[in-house]
Amino acid sequence: MPDITFELNEDQQQVRDWIHGFAVDVMRPAAAEWDEREETPWPVIQEAAKIGLYSLDFYAQQYFDPTGLGIAMTMEELFWGDAGIGLSIVGTGLAAVGVLANGTEEQVGTWIPQMYGDASDVKVAAFCSSEPDAGSDVSAMRTRAVYDEAKDEWVLNGTKTWATNGGIANVHVVVAVVDPELGSKGHASFIVPPATPGLSQGQKFKKHGIRASHTAEVVLEDVRIPGHCLLGGKDKLDERLARARERAKTGGERVKNAAMATFEASRPAVGAQAVGIARAAYEVALDYARTRVQFGRPIIDNQGIAFQLADMRTRIDAARLLVWRASWMAVAGKPFASAEGSMSKLFAGETAKSVTAQAMQILGGNGFTREYPVERMHRDAAIYTIFEGTSEIQRLVIARTLSGMPIR
Ligand SMILES: Cc1cc2nc3c(=O)[nH]c(=O)nc-3n(C[C@H](O)[C@H](O)[C@H](O)COP(=O)(O)OP(=O)(O)OC[C@H]3O[C@@H](n4cnc5c(N)ncnc54)[C@H](O)[C@@H]3O)c2cc1C
Repeated sequence: MPDITFELNEDQQQVRDWIHGFAVDVMRPAAAEWDEREETPWPVIQEAAKIGLYSLDFYAQQYFDPTGLGIAMTMEELFWGDAGIGLSIVGTGLAAVGVLANGTEEQVGTWIPQMYGDASDVKVAAFCSSEPDAGSDVSAMRTRAVYDEAKDEWVLNGTKTWATNGGIANVHVVVAVVDPELGSKGHASFIVPPATPGLSQGQKFKKHGIRASHTAEVVLEDVRIPGHCLLGGKDKLDERLARARERAKTGGERVKNAAMATFEASRPAVGAQAVGIARAAYEVALDYARTRVQFGRPIIDNQGIAFQLADMRTRIDAARLLVWRASWMAVAGKPFASAEGSMSKLFAGETAKSVTAQAMQILGGNGFTREYPVERMHRDAAIYTIFEGTSEIQRLVIARTLSGMPIR
């Protein structure tokens, strides 16, 4: 029995085929409509909830898959179906992972189920970190959380932007500054429970792609939340802040940033989404190139087309291998000594963008119309070099990790 395999096991193949069936039967037929409507596809999320594909149990099962490939496989298949709808289905997971990474067991048990709701009343959740002046530069964050000791409440004020599901979420996870002197070490994450006064949706963005996913500003005006909504609890926060202040005073050794380690582990999941989009566009292009006849022969008979398809497929497979390696490293507890998580997201994101552009070219005029899906896939792919850390920021992380130098 070899130690290494590049295949999914039997259980995983079954799950993959099940998701693929949902992608073919439910997501694909709905994709163009929800892209045009630019709205959250609630009926599709509900369908997913009915069969258990939108549920805490399913994602927990994939998240804790001992091979590490459960989430990567799920993401690839859903985003092969459609990226906008896919993001509406998995967007809640970003907030759920925020609670899993920083919350107590009790917080995980209380809040994550409320993020998903149930099949008869589905809910979504939002993770709100980005701000108008704090995108790549998280340390510029301004949203403040101040502790009101007399009432054991936190008071949140600020404006978040670009939040997936922002304002329509049942539960919002909000990152805020608790100690402005400490830069990004002075941040903490909070749960804003359903229907909390003071939280409102600001502008909803009209986007280039992933238009079936809701993206909006979230405005926080004197939002009062109970003390127990601080993820991880007050004692842990106080300890962490004391350590950070001590290090700032003594100029002590820089400890590895826990948030960075979390990002490294979650980036392959985003890379897997990009692989799904790229694979979908490649398949459409391959099919078209085989059947479209010009100059009396299928266009794939031209090396200029066939070699493009060969390159597209090679890049997709390479991207998947990087994603799978990083996913396996995360679950095996391997240190990301060369920022392998960032590598996978960088390469897969760039691959989705270039492969979908090539697919449009292979479809000629048809590729440029909404009669064929590659135009939408190309628009959807563009976000993969921007969100969850832009391609430039991934390169920065990789270069800093490799060199140990504070490259700017
Ligand atoms: C559709 C969508 C959904 C999103 N969902 C969420 C969400 O759910 N929650 C959330 O918190 N955020 C979300 N975001 C925010 C997203 O993560 C940010 O847009 C992203 O981090 C980039 O920040 P920015 O847009 O402010 O760009 P900026 O940081 O202003 O960057 C602008 C350009 O400058 C480059 N740049 C910046 N700094 C450097 C540097 N040091 N070296 C080289 N180049 C640099 C960037 O790479 C980019 O090309 C979402 C964004 C979008 C568009």
